[in-house]
Amino acid sequence: MRAVVYRQANDIDITDWPDPEPAPGEVLLRPVLTGVCGTDKHLLAGGFMATYPLIPGHEIVAELVNTAHGLDAGTLVAVDNTDTCLSCEYCRRGQTLYCTAFRSLGCNAPGGFAELMVAPARKCFPLAGVDPSVAVLTEPLACAVHGADTLALTPGSDVLVLGAGPTGLLLTQLLLHGGAARITVAAPSPHKLELAHHFGADHTVLLPRGDQDAAFQELKALAPSGFDVVVEATGAPEVLARCTGLTRMGGTVLVYGMADADDLVPFSPYEIFARELTIKGSFAQIECFDRSLAYLRSGRVRTDGIVTHTFGLGDFEQALGATKLPGAVKAAIDPQR
Ligand SMILES: [Zn+2]
Ligand SMILES: [Zn+2]
Repeated sequence: MRAVVYRQANDIDITDWPDPEPAPGEVLLRPVLTGVCGTDKHLLAGGFMATYPLIPGHEIVAELVNTAHGLDAGTLVAVDNTDTCLSCEYCRRGQTLYCTAFRSLGCNAPGGFAELMVAPARKCFPLAGVDPSVAVLTEPLACAVHGADTLALTPGSDVLVLGAGPTGLLLTQLLLHGGAARITVAAPSPHKLELAHHFGADHTVLLPRGDQDAAFQELKALAPSGFDVVVEATGAPEVLARCTGLTRMGGTVLVYGMADADDLVPFSPYEIFARELTIKGSFAQIECFDRSLAYLRSGRVRTDGIVTHTFGLGDFEQALGATKLPGAVKAAIDPQR
């Protein structure tokens, strides 16, 4: 089969690779659309949980090659890329996301930027009518569902989301339907802010990458006592550093964007103590695929305009850089093209 292979950090090969063989409990899949994500860049740079050689691609829609494990050949499925050991200290407490042997297809096991792949049958969720172009967002939306679970938003909250990448746009919609009285989105790209507005954001604020003082003053003016919840969805430490200052007394900062492992952010412990602030983190997802697909099936969470570019396997490097193209939001790979 053809596959994208990260041989080691910063070394991409698009090459012939041995066909995978399903182990007991697994099915053979033909990926039809796999989303490209910022994590794929972190993995290429040697960060996150990269294990080489790696076939990346963790946002996978695929078709069953053979009838197996109660699923018919040709069934289109969203593949939950995560798996856990069920026997480590965390799994035995039901905290499976913290599994010490956490397995993530496309991160530390072969993923979906390939003509073929294998996955556990129980991790395959039939699309049942959801179009693959929509279902390709099942994994990012599942991560947003986990983010919403973690945040546990109080109804009537005033929410600020910093960042309008695909995950920020999806989480914004979940919080909008999940109790926010008002949502403000701030981000550096006017076309992404337009999309945020189109998905229901009440206010949008342009947050340039350079001097951000004016933008933060504009945000402060929107909520002089602070927002109940500030979601950091850019991964930029300089943005996270501003979050506590925008949060209301007793409010919450959700760290949702992925920073580099060695980034540091200065905080005032006095401010967190005296203003009783809460800082929460949300990482990936586990067991959120069913709810994610339910949102996509009903159309309650909208995806139109998020995937702006589709490439074949041979153009993977172009796809990785596609977010820099004018008007781009997210790219996907059609591995059969
Ligand atoms: Zn992703
Ligand atoms: Zn475990």
